[in-house]
Amino acid sequence: MAKVLISVDMEGVSGVVHGDHTGRDGKDYDMARRLMTLEANAAVEGAFQGGAQEVVINDSHGTQRNLLPELLDQRATVITGSPKPQTMMAGLDDTFDAVLCVGYHAMAGSEGILDHTISGRVVQEILVNGSPQGELGLNAGIAAHHGVPIVMVSGDTTCCEQARGLIPNIECAVVKEPLTRYAAKNLSPLSAQELVRGKARLGVERLLEIEPAKFSSPFTLTLKFVNSAMADVAQWVPGVSRENATTVSFTSDNFLVAFQCFRVVILAAGTTLAH
Ligand SMILES: [Zn+2]
Repeated sequence: MAKVLISVDMEGVSGVVHGDHTGRDGKDYDMARRLMTLEANAAVEGAFQGGAQEVVINDSHGTQRNLLPELLDQRATVITGSPKPQTMMAGLDDTFDAVLCVGYHAMAGSEGILDHTISGRVVQEILVNGSPQGELGLNAGIAAHHGVPIVMVSGDTTCCEQARGLIPNIECAVVKEPLTRYAAKNLSPLSAQELVRGKARLGVERLLEIEPAKFSSPFTLTLKFVNSAMADVAQWVPGVSRENATTVSFTSDNFLVAFQCFRVVILAAGTTLAH
């Protein structure tokens, strides 16, 4: 009896390529949130086809109030709103068997659609034990903390390549190919949903074959900011070390503690943007 969390972001949904899609005030936001909801539903359907008995959806983009509740598959429950503990992995604990990541995007500094890590205005790069990781890698660390594997991801070619680098036998649904940061060759929404459904089913069927991500303890998270003012503020958080003008680090033997520390560090650093 498999229990599955589906974390749904927006930048990796087929048809989404611009801030006009992903921002609440964007002209095409209503269309994009509908496409996001339909891809989430495809993953729910696939998860049940693969043997899930319980599915929880977590809205993981921006305000985390994007999915249209009235369109969602009635078999799933949905976590909506922010802030919330574990952010994109909210709701996850060791009673779950698998995580599916839908609509994910490439890490900051790579050639993918709308690439960023948590906050494009604040974060230039995050490393886990010296290796660059995006949101997928950080979330894989949280899932591993609970002993749960991420078994499927959907997004663009770059995001899926990064996922395979982290979790070699993960199921990937490539729904678009980037041409530039703001342009892609997309599958039609119906074809993207069909692909997501199939890969979600395979991921849940194969969940025992896919290991949780292997980061070894102690976990050192390193964050390179966009400018030095952000590091000036971040170093005031107890336990955070200043590495150089724009970089801080934090080490813990508990991945979740390190992640939550960085979440607060990013929020604090972001306040300098108002100066
Ligand atoms: Zn997002």
